[in-house]
Amino acid sequence: MSWSDYSFENLLNEARRRTNCYRASWRGIILIGPPGSGKGSQAPKLKDEYCVCHISTGDALRAAVAQGTELGKKAKSIMDKGELVPDELVNGIVGEAIDSPKCAKGFILDGYPRTVPQAQAVGYCVKKNKKNKKHYKSMIKKKSSIFKKLEKMLKEKKKLVSDVVELNVPDSILEERITGRRIHKASGRTYHVKFSPPKQSNKDDVNLFIYLFVTGEPLIQRADDTAEVLKPRLNEYHKHAEPVLAFYKQNGLVRTVNADDKFDVVWGRIKTQITSHK
Ligand code: AMP
Repeated sequence: MSWSDYSFENLLNEARRRTNCYRASWRGIILIGPPGSGKGSQAPKLKDEYCVCHISTGDALRAAVAQGTELGKKAKSIMDKGELVPDELVNGIVGEAIDSPKCAKGFILDGYPRTVPQAQAVGYCVKKNKKNKKHYKSMIKKKSSIFKKLEKMLKEKKKLVSDVVELNVPDSILEERITGRRIHKASGRTYHVKFSPPKQSNKDDVNLFIYLFVTGEPLIQRADDTAEVLKPRLNEYHKHAEPVLAFYKQNGLVRTVNADDKFDVVWGRIKTQITSHK
């Protein structure tokens, strides 16, 4: 592949993106939303826009299951039932990933934190101010040693949470979104059989300009993307999301976005919310 294989417009856009990245300030973004709310689709766009790394605990766990690692063996049966994997396992994933050079300008946490103890592990790293001083002290008291390590590392490296984006979608439309979802495993690109079908049935799109990244390979359906497993996944979400959001609301970090719309419309709303809180 040589430079002449890229269109002038693509090269210019990439140069613009990199210049912006060079100047970009720190962003620590957390995406919270039920399964099928669009976290996995919006995260790559946020990653490019804010030059941050994308950490999906769901993707990391699925990779561990596929590779048959110790973590994967522990997580598989729990994931198959749509339940939550123990906090210490997912905290370990985030702690390792966030330390990578890719996260130098910030991070997007997609599907994490999902419980209050997980939120305590990263949530501590919000900027301290007068308003949340009391809250801060009570959090430190409650902490267990498992979380102290992650939080210490984040704090030392000043990896702070800046925005918590809540994607709101009514439960009634999630089943259609989830059961029609198809994924290109290597890149995580998502399609939907009805709302955003691939050009060729069940195959990743091929684009001549960026053919290194878009492949024509077969798409897969996630084992837990069924109506049956969606029920416990949604139950788990509703049980834990409110307390997690309440945790961040105390710091004024939550931006709630109506995500029951087309991808670009939702993306515009997310960007407006994040930009208005610099
Ligand atoms: P997701 O891809 O985010 O929908 O996650 C798929 C499954 O992975 C979930 O149903 C959980 O079993 C597990 N999982 C992902 N992230 C977490 C997390 N932060 N805490 C506990 N379990 C998780």
